[in-house]
Amino acid sequence: RPSVVFEDVVFGYEKDRTILKGLSFEVPAGQNFAVVGPSGAGKSTLARLLFRFYDPWSGRILIDGQDIAQITQASLRAAIGIVPQDSVLFNETIGYNIAYGRSDATEEDVQAAARGAALMPLIERLPQGFGTEVGERGLKLSGGEKQRVAIARTLVKNPPILLLDEATSALDTRTEQDILATLHRVSEDRTSISIAHRLSTIADSDSILVLQDGCLAESGSHLELLRHDGL
Ligand code: ADP
Ligand code: ADP
Repeated sequence: RPSVVFEDVVFGYEKDRTILKGLSFEVPAGQNFAVVGPSGAGKSTLARLLFRFYDPWSGRILIDGQDIAQITQASLRAAIGIVPQDSVLFNETIGYNIAYGRSDATEEDVQAAARGAALMPLIERLPQGFGTEVGERGLKLSGGEKQRVAIARTLVKNPPILLLDEATSALDTRTEQDILATLHRVSEDRTSISIAHRLSTIADSDSILVLQDGCLAESGSHLELLRHDGL
């Protein structure tokens, strides 16, 4: 259960346009942390830096006290499980999709791991369970079912850090709350970072950072931030 620390992180995609303007925050080990803010604030950029798609211009990002610039790409990828907003599934069964990425294990092993990790609440509602065909880009599934599979695919690898980048944002509120409740149950003491643009998505978070125009605008609990305008 590692901690995640951003230390005065400055970054932009083009050299004359700074996107993250000296961002610092700390996610204690095991915490449910959330980043919320309007579109364009830099939330996805923050996620990309954590995953080292890009390196900061200055400042550091630490996982468990270690600068991620010093960690191999392989261990960084093993440490962080990411679920994006619009997950792409293979035109195969749910079992295959969940097993994807666990090249060390057979599909049966991965299914056993999913049962062991109590991931079944994420998939059991589908009529044929692991055998359900997801279709081209997951089209045979509803948006909510697709994201459930994507979350199970990530969690089955047991990443110490879970990064949800607007993972439920495209879903209706009821489906979203349903998935979040399940996620809460199956992922209790993991370090997790949820990125969202509405506060209702992250009501369960221990601590919330409000990002605005690449800066930390505010931070606090859900209750404290409910009084904040524009969220
Ligand atoms: P959010 O996730 O909060 O909506 P983003 O991190 O996606 O915000 O984007 C922050 C800013 O960075 C936006 O102004 C966006 O236009 C810009 N941006 C995002 N990705 C790129 C990119 N690949 N190249 C150039 N600018 C980008
Ligand atoms: P990671 O490899 O980062 O641990 P996952 O193992 O969860 O992530 O795999 C998700 C990635 O797999 C997606 O971001 C996507 O790039 C790739 N992927 C999944 N399904 C497909 C597909 N049908 N076609 C192409 N790429 C896919």
